[in-house]
Amino acid sequence: MSEVIHRQDTRQVRVGDLTIGGKNEVVIQSMTTTKTHDVDATVNQIGDLVQAGCQVVRVACPDEKAADAIPEIKKRITIPLVVDIHFDYRLALKAIEGGADKIRINPGNIGKRDKVEAVVNAAKEKGIPIRIGVNAGSLEKHILKKYGYPTADGMVESALHHIKILEDLNFYDIIVSLKASDVSLAIEAYEKAAKVIPYPLHLGITESGTLFAGTVKSSAGLGAILSKGIGNTLRISLSADPVEEVKVARELLKSFSLASNAATLISCPTCGRIEIDLISIANEVEDYISEIRAPIKVAVLGCAVNGPGEAREADIGIAGARGEGLLFRHGEIIRKVPEETMVEELKKEVDKLAKEYAQE
Ligand code: SF4
Repeated sequence: MSEVIHRQDTRQVRVGDLTIGGKNEVVIQSMTTTKTHDVDATVNQIGDLVQAGCQVVRVACPDEKAADAIPEIKKRITIPLVVDIHFDYRLALKAIEGGADKIRINPGNIGKRDKVEAVVNAAKEKGIPIRIGVNAGSLEKHILKKYGYPTADGMVESALHHIKILEDLNFYDIIVSLKASDVSLAIEAYEKAAKVIPYPLHLGITESGTLFAGTVKSSAGLGAILSKGIGNTLRISLSADPVEEVKVARELLKSFSLASNAATLISCPTCGRIEIDLISIANEVEDYISEIRAPIKVAVLGCAVNGPGEAREADIGIAGARGEGLLFRHGEIIRKVPEETMVEELKKEVDKLAKEYAQE
């Protein structure tokens, strides 16, 4: 099996207790949709995101009220907190003071040099990184003038422009994103950026759409980028509950074997040979394994005709037979189980294997 060779030569940047870049795994991010000043709602949503597998969370900080909420949010969550600020350096200072683990702000948009310096010095003092977020839809006027419209070269030039501002102040804890809602443009921009930017890259296809369309679009774009070994963190941006963003991100990383702590479901497409209610079983098993934190492959097959052979790479699986199921582990049938209990039996085997992983 050929594996994605992950780009490992980026600088490593600490975000809370995580290290992003270098040899580290791609980190899943999401963003809350609650009003940040509503601390209870925001903390609750972050709890749901964590349960789904989110590793870093970003909150919007559009005003003073939101910035004031940062210390309390930070106190009540378990994953690193990124605070997203546009332009206003005072909000950035407040967020940093309040315990943000990273801020997302474009230094070129902050204004006069003394303001930029104030933000950079505060970030330096707290040892937190800054994410530069280039967006094809809001490139600087001078870049648009030069290229005529948003291009990959223009996006990379914009990123380099912001990077230079930070580097000139001896600040190097930088993460960069180059988002576009046009998939081909985003792919090209990230490919070009990976060649000239030594900092970790945060991936995203912006404004990708609703749950269904956005999942397809994000997976097409980010899949192409990840397949080239590019990307250190990612967010799937959906017009949906952010928990869905995390689920899609995990699934995408699993497709490239880039998530070492997630179980994968292999389920047959079904055909006329089907012997069990495979679709509902597959959904139930998928739900169950979403909280398993071990790289286990679980197969659910509609019949035993091709049986375990169809899912040879699965660790554990079940194949439907008339009125019963064949439970198999690493390609070998271990026992027959009645149809009514086969899902429970499968879950037991999954738990057993997860425990074995935990003990390793
Ligand atoms: Fe059809 Fe059986 Fe293959 Fe599923 S496992 S696709 S039911 S032959």
